[in-house]
Amino acid sequence: MEKAEIGLIGLGTMGSNLALNIAEKGHRIAVFNRTPARTQAFVESAGALRDMVVPCASIEELTDAIRPPRPVIIMVLAGTPVDEQIAALRGVMSANDIIIDAGNANFRDTMRRFKELEGSGLTFIGMGVSGGEEGARHGPSIMVGGTPESYQRVEGVLTAISAKFKGEPCAAWLGTDGAGHFVKTIHNGIEYADMQMIAEIYGILRDGLGMRPKEIAPVFAGWNKGRLESYLIEITASVLEADDPKTGRPVVDIILDRAGQKGTGKWSVIEAQQLGIPATAIEAAVAARVLSSMKDERLAAEKAYGANALKFAGDRGDVLGDLELALFAGKIAAYAQGFAVMAGASKEFGWNLPMPTIAKIWRAGCIIRSQFLDTIAEAFGKADPSTNLLMVPAFVEMMGKAHPSLRRIVARAAEAGLPVPALSSALAYFDGYRQGRGSTDLTQAQRDFFGAHGFERIDAPGAFHGPWGSGAA
Ligand code: NDP
Repeated sequence: MEKAEIGLIGLGTMGSNLALNIAEKGHRIAVFNRTPARTQAFVESAGALRDMVVPCASIEELTDAIRPPRPVIIMVLAGTPVDEQIAALRGVMSANDIIIDAGNANFRDTMRRFKELEGSGLTFIGMGVSGGEEGARHGPSIMVGGTPESYQRVEGVLTAISAKFKGEPCAAWLGTDGAGHFVKTIHNGIEYADMQMIAEIYGILRDGLGMRPKEIAPVFAGWNKGRLESYLIEITASVLEADDPKTGRPVVDIILDRAGQKGTGKWSVIEAQQLGIPATAIEAAVAARVLSSMKDERLAAEKAYGANALKFAGDRGDVLGDLELALFAGKIAAYAQGFAVMAGASKEFGWNLPMPTIAKIWRAGCIIRSQFLDTIAEAFGKADPSTNLLMVPAFVEMMGKAHPSLRRIVARAAEAGLPVPALSSALAYFDGYRQGRGSTDLTQAQRDFFGAHGFERIDAPGAFHGPWGSGAA
């Protein structure tokens, strides 16, 4: 039988869809799953693609079925299961074979695995895949980290299965070792901020303007035709339109306000902190999910303090206009933070991350796909990739027009007692970023007062101490 082009371990939600996508694009694929029943079910579901699939009962059978050098995608749960599969593959693979971890790995694990395989003759690729089940089946965004040579071997398959934006594949090699998984992590961090800001705007529409889900849905649908056009805004409109079959009520009204998370948002924040790059909108979004999980405490606090949700006064049309621009301004600040974190990591880990390419491969296939990313790709194409997005000329103009609305919305939400943590963090970041002289002169004075940490002067180089005398300790 003709050898397979590539192999895949793990036929769960993502693995099975990715395998069908690969088969559909004309690449024969060998598959293996720990639980054989799942392999059987997968083969039965393959339909017309059955001939392109080689089901295997063991890892040995899997590697035997592939044309050398043999690339094998691991799509199992992140963590120890990935290390177990790598160990099993090491036992049966030979020189130049390629192990590809396509799960949501922590990039530090990817760097470790990459190092552990160095000198073994095998190569390792850490590959971020975004777009969920639908993306895996019909075209995800694919972020690759590894050696350029190993990428060359799989480039044809990956570009064929990836999403396309105006014909351009949303798959790219981004750097060595952990680059792909790092970029996927920050993608998810930005996704957290994007989703949180949309939820905050929805909260204002619901509680500040007293609108019902069916009235809010067309607002988002309308925004989806303009500067906010994106997958997340599109699905927000659809979600708000949907009714619960059991009660007939809008589905959002019967969903418990307790959000889950799997870790990539938290990893984004941890890495931003490690790198010393502010990512306040992402931090606020992660914290908002944590606070949302404290349902009982929130109910008790509402009893203690009362629900201070005042209505927004004024013309509804004016408020809606402000909300759209506020969301846009918040989005600019959140993306500026995400890209700044990637620029910091690129320097720290020597990746030379191609920012315009990252923006390009996020334009389709992934959860944060949007028209906006096309604008970012174009703007970054003309700027130094380490430039903060807020300083790229096209964005200076857009933010200049949008931030007054963000300011009004954050101020009115604060007055009304409606929480807007991501939007207000985005605003505070912007205001801090554009303030030539801030107030940390005082912080430095305090640090010198109690800890003799010293400070710099505005009028002379060097380190100085203040005239604190015996009051300092
Ligand atoms: P599923 O739960 O649907 O499937 C898990 C798969 O992992 C199954 O094939 C399972 O095999 C296998 N597995 C679990 N533990 C082991 C183990 N110890 N040894 C061997 N195989 C094991 O997960 P998903 O497909 O959703 O996720 C897979 C990866 O993709 C994860 O890293 C996830 O974070 C990532 N991801 C998921 C997305 C999504 O939207 N779902 C989006 C992007 C990335 P078995 O049948 O034997 O249990």
